[in-house]
Amino acid sequence: MLVQFGHSRIELAQGDITSQQVDAIVNAANSRLAGGGGVDGAIHRAAGPTLMDETRTKYPEGCSTGSAVATSAGRLRAKFVFHAVGPIWRGGVAGEAELLSSAYRRCLELAVENACPSIAFPAISTGVYGYPMDLAAERSLSAVRAFLLEHQQPELVRFVLFDGGSFGAFARALEAMAE
Ligand code: ADP
Repeated sequence: MLVQFGHSRIELAQGDITSQQVDAIVNAANSRLAGGGGVDGAIHRAAGPTLMDETRTKYPEGCSTGSAVATSAGRLRAKFVFHAVGPIWRGGVAGEAELLSSAYRRCLELAVENACPSIAFPAISTGVYGYPMDLAAERSLSAVRAFLLEHQQPELVRFVLFDGGSFGAFARALEAMAE
């Protein structure tokens, strides 16, 4: 599924983000940038140990929630990995929506700063961080759409959804947004 917003497009795909051929792959990291399971584990495994070495050296203090930092991408078919820290879901009353939006925005800023025409995102915060999938889909897509309409770049933003449930939630939210 593909929707054009200004000069840019949002695409949805189902699969494994580590096999994406884009300029920047976004990781759903924790604030210590310490590695973990889920998409973080998959990205570090596929990229190889240089990814963790570089992350530790460049960002010994980690990264705050709602922000993101950039490294190179090791063995991945991308130039960069942007390590984004989404919020842990606490019932929706702890500023989670704004923090989720700002994690996406920061990644898109990093894409522009590093001249990346294409970027792939996982569904940040929807795994162990517990953000409800439908709400995350709506928030994530509207944060990206707002950025694209304002900045007209990057050219391609692809959401790579791991399973049918997350793909369906994002497809419904994107359809509603395109109407
Ligand atoms: P968070 O801690 O931000 O919740 P998780 O890694 O636990 O991060 O999950 C984020 C989302 O990424 C979940 O929807 C999960 O199903 C999905 N995911 C896990 N592995 C992959 C992968 N290899 N590619 C794309 N998405 C993945």
